[in-house]
Amino acid sequence: MSSRYRKGHSNWSRIKELVLRRDGYQCQYCGYSVFDGSRVIGMTIDHLIEYASGGKLVMENLVASCNKCNLKLIGTTASRKNDLIESREWWGKY
Ligand SMILES: [Zn+2]
Repeated sequence: MSSRYRKGHSNWSRIKELVLRRDGYQCQYCGYSVFDGSRVIGMTIDHLIEYASGGKLVMENLVASCNKCNLKLIGTTASRKNDLIESREWWGKY
């Protein structure tokens, strides 16, 4: 398990950049986005299905998220996350 994680880890920064670009450098849960011209501040990538639950390191399972939402979403199911993204329930609530 841990060795597989390390193997995938070399692509992580590339995948992260691709996901952020796809999502417009904006948190898909609350809409938060700060871009200082060279980097996105306070943003991370959330796994819809968490890695510990078998979620894969692929674009379809990854979504741009601010650090706050990422923390709030620990232990949240993928379907609830999809609901939040679609309903924009947290939009503007950063
Ligand atoms: Zn957010």
